[in-house]
Amino acid sequence: MCGILGYVGPRAAAPLLLEGLRRLEYRGYDSAGLALLHGGAVTVTRRIGPVTSLAEAVDPAAAGTTGLGHTRWATHGRVTEANAHPHLDGAERIAVVHNGIIENHAAIRALLEGEGVRFRSDTDTEVLPHLIRKFYQGDPLEAVRAALHAVQGTYGIAVLFADHPGVVIAARNGSPLVVGKGDGETFIASDPQAIAGFTRHVVYLEDREIVRLTAEGWELTRLDGAAVTHTVEVLAEELVWSDKGEFHHHMLKEIHEQPESLRRCLSGRVVPEEGGARLGGFDLTNREIATISRVAVVGCGTSYHAGVVGTAAMEQLARLPAYAEVASEFRYRNPVVDPHALFLAVSQSGETADTLGAVREIQLKGGRVMGVVNAVGSSIARQCGRGVYVHSGPEIAVASTKAFTSQVAALLVAALMFGRTRHLGAEEGRRFGEDLLAVPKLVEAYLAHPGPIAQAVELLSEAPFVFFFGRGVSQAVAMEGALKLKEVAYLPCMAYPAAEMKHGPIALIDASTPVVAVVPTDGMRAKTLSNVQEVRARGARTILVHAEGDEDAPALADISIPVPRTRSALVSPLLTVLPLQLIAYQVGIALGRNIDRPRNLAKSVTVE
Ligand code: GLU
Repeated sequence: MCGILGYVGPRAAAPLLLEGLRRLEYRGYDSAGLALLHGGAVTVTRRIGPVTSLAEAVDPAAAGTTGLGHTRWATHGRVTEANAHPHLDGAERIAVVHNGIIENHAAIRALLEGEGVRFRSDTDTEVLPHLIRKFYQGDPLEAVRAALHAVQGTYGIAVLFADHPGVVIAARNGSPLVVGKGDGETFIASDPQAIAGFTRHVVYLEDREIVRLTAEGWELTRLDGAAVTHTVEVLAEELVWSDKGEFHHHMLKEIHEQPESLRRCLSGRVVPEEGGARLGGFDLTNREIATISRVAVVGCGTSYHAGVVGTAAMEQLARLPAYAEVASEFRYRNPVVDPHALFLAVSQSGETADTLGAVREIQLKGGRVMGVVNAVGSSIARQCGRGVYVHSGPEIAVASTKAFTSQVAALLVAALMFGRTRHLGAEEGRRFGEDLLAVPKLVEAYLAHPGPIAQAVELLSEAPFVFFFGRGVSQAVAMEGALKLKEVAYLPCMAYPAAEMKHGPIALIDASTPVVAVVPTDGMRAKTLSNVQEVRARGARTILVHAEGDEDAPALADISIPVPRTRSALVSPLLTVLPLQLIAYQVGIALGRNIDRPRNLAKSVTVE
């Protein structure tokens, strides 16, 4: 969500900042802006819409070797040029870019207005440049520090001062920031992706830390003045920017990367010879695994759906009581945190504010929480300290596809590992491990021949409303399929447990409401097929996603989409979700949607 990039060094800042902002585009934003410091003055350019509009407005030869860039995802104030960042103080000598929310902005604004300050925007952010001005007595670092003492809320900010060319001040509380050190130049960014093309040497800021950047380096302290030391980390090779290659959209490319991303997630972790699995990042002894009282997964959106599959597997394979919960609900209901439970925080970006909040709540209550995260070095990964990286590689499209399947795969591996210690025999474990390891090839086979997706797209793109249903882990797949269709096609739709339809939603069914049913060959297949009959009897046209070789399902389908068969029903979501991803993508195309950057959405949701 939204992005920050700052530069201090010998090079012209504008082209670097614009390139970096393009690399942040995938996170979702609605407007963009740039501040350049030159000749003792700050020049600000802002535009609504894509970074390309901003780039057209900025003179490519613009002078200035100190600058800030920002992509905004509006929280306070509409999407207008005046509300876009950077924001300036009254004298236009201090420029601020901000990610996050200043919660006490109204009180600060009232106070400053009482002192005669005139505001130019409706944002919460604009209190910052005015507050910094109020405390400024010649030392930029101390002015920002003093201003932040008055502020409540979340922020990643970067600030420049017209009086101090070659200096950028940045601070973090709840919104990620990373410093990048190049040769005689220094960067600050909200996401290492923005600077990966310029340098690989980075330092991640922790909450309530402030940093003064110059071309030569940085000085990092805590907001309360205490000293901190940080080690420089080297960014992983996989952060190198991936382009779309032969594909028209990142989403389609990422769907097709799933055989490879699943291989990366599974390799070296499933050990069929032992009938088990190893996830070193959990750092749990077998004795510790044996004494886990239950497992709880917290996540948001797609990550929550992966958690629903994962917890079903923990229950079945390890006979562990397990449930998944939406992180935003969990964190605020004063949850009971059993110190013997294992909590797992699932997040692609590792920056999801609600999930990070849940992690902190669990830790505060003495619980044990581990991350299931894609982005290496992200806030959740670091806050948890232990966990598993899902290794799906950078996911650029806002709608998650390959990260979902890798999250599911990682949770299935964890379930196998816990299961083998607690409940599963070697033979059962070996079978499940083999079935998991077979998945990448099956995914490849399906994607090579995806079946009648075009027919499904024709049916759905005309529909005013679509139902998805399934049972057990297929209910999680139905939820994920419906979410994809909302995200990239903006199509009203709903996922329901198949048997729940008759308790209300079936009232909505008629010939205009297609139903997508996820019916793999598992113990509930016959029951779900009965539910399919029920909606057909009321006129619904049906799209059935079922296992190859199923002889009954096609007869109940207007459109029948077979996927490769797997022995383990718990593995089936990795296959049944594929047609739903393709359908959402193709319906989005048919309806002319902005596939990789759907309206109103952000890739990593760093506000709560
Ligand atoms: N709350 C700020 C605004 O609405 C910052 C939004 C962002 O993080 O991009 O302007």
